[in-house]
Amino acid sequence: MGNKINTNELLIKNGRVIDPLNNIDSVCDVLIEEGRICYVGKVQKQMPEDKVIEASGKIVCPGFIDMHVHFREPGDEEEETIRSGSHAAVAGGYTSVVCMPNTDPTIQDETSIEFVHRMGRQTRKTHVYAMGALTKDRKGVELSEMGLMAGAGAAGFTDDGTGVQDASVMRKALKYASMFGLVVSQHCQDSSLSGNGVINAGFNSMLLGLPGMSPLAEELMLWRDIQLNKSIRAKYHAQHISTKGSVDIIRKAKQEGIPVTCEVTPHHLLLNEQTVAEYDTNYKMNPPLRTDEDNAALKEAVKDGIIDALITDHAPHLQSEKELEFLYAPFGIIGLESALPLFGKALIEDGIIDWPELVAMLTCKPAEILGIDETKGSFTKGKWGDITIFDPEEKWQIDVNKFFSKARNCPFHGWDVKGKVCYTIVGGEVRYSSERD
Ligand SMILES: [Zn+2]
Repeated sequence: MGNKINTNELLIKNGRVIDPLNNIDSVCDVLIEEGRICYVGKVQKQMPEDKVIEASGKIVCPGFIDMHVHFREPGDEEEETIRSGSHAAVAGGYTSVVCMPNTDPTIQDETSIEFVHRMGRQTRKTHVYAMGALTKDRKGVELSEMGLMAGAGAAGFTDDGTGVQDASVMRKALKYASMFGLVVSQHCQDSSLSGNGVINAGFNSMLLGLPGMSPLAEELMLWRDIQLNKSIRAKYHAQHISTKGSVDIIRKAKQEGIPVTCEVTPHHLLLNEQTVAEYDTNYKMNPPLRTDEDNAALKEAVKDGIIDALITDHAPHLQSEKELEFLYAPFGIIGLESALPLFGKALIEDGIIDWPELVAMLTCKPAEILGIDETKGSFTKGKWGDITIFDPEEKWQIDVNKFFSKARNCPFHGWDVKGKVCYTIVGGEVRYSSERD
């Protein structure tokens, strides 16, 4: 990068420093030396001007971690590459992302895990991790080579895009994965119930004449997995939960001490099935947008600490594909570059939670689920200087044409929002600055 601030020494001054893991929320400075967190507090040190970032009025926190993105490489590089996705990530304040394995070919061996890591390193934007497939070709029949992928640095395992249908395969997967201490992430969906559905099943799907996906498809698999995991006690993580029923199931499991974590997207907090009324395929996602009641239950779950991580499920698609009829268009929307203000709108502006709580779900909580070592989502001394600086009050309008992502499939285009990422710093190096975008 041709920027001035390019060494590994940096002083961030006068920001509101929020580090949930270490219980810090105060106006002070953060000093980075040799790319790592050196000191948080009042720093007197004299530094050259180009190594100082003035952050008054801004929030300075550990870099955001998105444990659920799709970068489409290998196989669909016209939709997104690890390079373009990484640019989008830093523009959204993310210093670590975890790629899902539903690429072509599937990420299911050491070589493909290493490939993703290498492309991420070469891009020099965000840290790029990968999950490996849980079963071979994500078919849900035979377990993948989890041990080898764990050795290559896989961040966990998932068949995301589909759930593992066979309970005995899932039980084996949980047992096997627990040997490596890595998370098993499940896209909870019983395909016998979701069938060829494209939106939430109910009054709205009937009205629009579109096949529906029952909330039960999600809840049954989630409930089943939790029962399986009762005795196995693997790290089990429910991806993008979307229904009130799922919240209830997870709440109860947590009360009983059964290991389960979960995540939620901005769109499942902010949008519901009624927004699909125009047959706009930018509202077609999997799991589908649900009801008002589900939105409210998810927000309540965030408030109660039932939701562990906030994720985007960044899912780039070609415009030509999204312009297909609703029935035939692919599922998914992009989300990295609009996530912060949307989470702010859903959770802060409505008074559901405060900034330290929101930051925790974007930093230390996903880091703990993933068990990623050097970038633990905190300002603990010695950790890599992965930092996000944002202005919580800055107003702007979401414009997909300004996105670094190759894709434009975003239903939030044109929304007026508040909260803007100013700097994204990885290993003490400024990898994104809004002044230069
Ligand atoms: Zn999924």
